[in-house]
Amino acid sequence: MSEKGLMISVSGPSGVGKGTIIEEIRRMFPECKHSISVTTRPPRGEEQDGVEYYFRTKDEFEKLVKEGEIIEYDMYVDNYYGTPATPLIEKSNRGDDVLLDITIAGSLALKRKFPQAVTIFILPPSFEKLEERLKGRGTESLELVQKRLEKAREEVLSAEKFDYVVVNDDLQTAVDNIVAIMKAEKCRYDRLSGIEKTL
Ligand code: 5GP
Repeated sequence: MSEKGLMISVSGPSGVGKGTIIEEIRRMFPECKHSISVTTRPPRGEEQDGVEYYFRTKDEFEKLVKEGEIIEYDMYVDNYYGTPATPLIEKSNRGDDVLLDITIAGSLALKRKFPQAVTIFILPPSFEKLEERLKGRGTESLELVQKRLEKAREEVLSAEKFDYVVVNDDLQTAVDNIVAIMKAEKCRYDRLSGIEKTL
């Protein structure tokens, strides 16, 4: 029996409600570890180095990439974000489940490096609802909302490369579906035995 923990990544277009879903899963499963990313963006509000993120300069980040310490990374709104290799591998080897809140490209890169990772794509119920949500935030101009919508239309095309797709219409249903995915993944024969299935 394999004692390894699950690596679960959750991605989706902007405004889809990924942050709220992840918060809820963390609340329900405090034992599920958080992968602390490295970023070049400055801390926001009460954020602390080593808690929400490791805050580093661009030079420091690029050095970590060169040294092979970053499993995957992406640029988001002019800043780098990357997953540190050692803590993720150590946590998984220890049997801890690790949840990664990363971009769509990040999840795809993670899956290429670790085929055993479980990638989940969060879909909006419809583009009309996504537009309502983005407008409802009231934080962005209409022009920016339109840009985000255009980007979301492109991004949902990547859903087919993910292991699972979860529609976020109702928060609790979306969370329940992710919990069901985690439970099912833990019962997979190949995962438990460490042997790839051949028929
Ligand atoms: P925020 O600045 O709001 O905390 O995060 C911005 C975006 O960066 C979010 O979509 C988040 O999922 C993504 N992100 C955070 N850490 C990583 C990471 O290590 N790798 C990648 N690819 N994306 C990340």
